[in-house]
Amino acid sequence: MKVVVLGAGVVGTAAAWFLSKNGHDVTVVEREPAAGLETSFANGGQVSPCHAEPWANPGTPLQALKWMGRADAPLVFKWWRYDPQLWAWLVRFLANCTAGRTRINLDRTLRVAIYSRDCLQALRAETGISYDEKTLGILHVYRNAQTFAHAQGASAVMASLGLKRDVKTVAEAVAIEPALQSVAHELTGAIFTPDDESGDAHKFTQELAKLATKNGVLFAFNTTVTGFQREGDRVTAVVTDRGEIKGDAYLMAMGSWSAPWAKQLGLALPVYPAKGYSATLAVTDAAKAPSVSVTDDEHKMVYSRLGDRLRCAGTAELAGWNDTMTPVRAAAIVKNAKALFPGAGDFDGAELWCGLRPTTPDSVPLLGKTPLTNFYLDTGHGTLGWTMSCGSGKAVADLISGRAPDIDMNGLGIERF
Ligand SMILES: Cc1cc2nc3c(=O)[nH]c(=O)nc-3n(C[C@H](O)[C@H](O)[C@H](O)COP(=O)(O)OP(=O)(O)OC[C@H]3O[C@@H](n4cnc5c(N)ncnc54)[C@H](O)[C@@H]3O)c2cc1C
Repeated sequence: MKVVVLGAGVVGTAAAWFLSKNGHDVTVVEREPAAGLETSFANGGQVSPCHAEPWANPGTPLQALKWMGRADAPLVFKWWRYDPQLWAWLVRFLANCTAGRTRINLDRTLRVAIYSRDCLQALRAETGISYDEKTLGILHVYRNAQTFAHAQGASAVMASLGLKRDVKTVAEAVAIEPALQSVAHELTGAIFTPDDESGDAHKFTQELAKLATKNGVLFAFNTTVTGFQREGDRVTAVVTDRGEIKGDAYLMAMGSWSAPWAKQLGLALPVYPAKGYSATLAVTDAAKAPSVSVTDDEHKMVYSRLGDRLRCAGTAELAGWNDTMTPVRAAAIVKNAKALFPGAGDFDGAELWCGLRPTTPDSVPLLGKTPLTNFYLDTGHGTLGWTMSCGSGKAVADLISGRAPDIDMNGLGIERF
């Protein structure tokens, strides 16, 4: 079967790999000159089922109100700006902030995330792919006793869903990651997820694209999707600025851009961009930079050591399909990083970047079938697209191939909206 994958971010590239492994003739359409150049370019680097707790949870509305008015807050949105798509998304988001919905959404996200981590490990063992990966776990540090207590409760729930998460004292946390020593007095505790990982999503995407090419996948770079041809309930071609590309099946993996383009096919995908920022700096003192990937709960920031670089990432700005950098927010990333790991690297020379997380109101990705019989979804991965890329790709590739995916796909599709 000929399958056309739309988008060569980490999600589309992983899907293309698994589709080719299932024996299909795969073409990936990508507007950039190479794979992984948009949101998958400089993310936080964490392969983190431990972060499966949805953004929409009972504590978020109050927290968001407290953050309002602070330009450097971890979450910023201007609800008064004319943006009906944001308002519709926010209404659904609030509906998902109940304890019951949070539990359901956690279960769904964790199902994909844990499976995905297994798929990534299997892919690595099979291919030897290397991408500055580290398999040292993720250490989540807390400064606030109340938040730490809440996190311990969430840990128990996640443990019941199959995720190993160990509660640690500050001394134990510093023993796991000695670079935290200088801020130990500010911390109240930590949670360690020993099986989580980190690595450079961009490097991974590029390396996987090379392996996929060797496996017969054709990457049509510098090719922009501009529309679709459709007959009844089937898509017959994707229209691009370089002509039509026909396939037997089509997979939407265009990240935040999936929503506006799927709309052309009459599909209303509740995917809204949440802009995030990162700073990547050269490590100048290895002892002061973390080796274990760290999450700082208070500032909602993550840190991953990528070879001799330190990636620092965070913040969410709900400001539409717009990837302009706001200097104050980029500066906040560097300031927080410098405070947590003083002397670790060249903070003044940090490379700043921002990208649009393709976010759904319930934090669960959109995977699988649509009302169009040959058009499938692999999008809406939000904060966990790198984490969930391999598992989503394999599950969707199996579905397209007429095989039963290894995970239960219930609750992961567009039908839940
Ligand atoms: C600051 C930040 C930190 C993050 N940290 C983490 C983390 O630590 N761990 C984690 O798991 N996730 C993290 N994420 C989320 C993760 O990066 C995303 O979920 C993931 O990159 C989404 O991948 P994607 O392939 O769906 O989208 P993208 O990487 O955006 O890929 C979509 C592709 O579609 C292409 N495209 C779009 N429109 C068209 C068109 N019309 N024609 C042709 N091609 C088109 C784009 O060029 C792009 O290459 C973070 C995100 C940000 C912003």
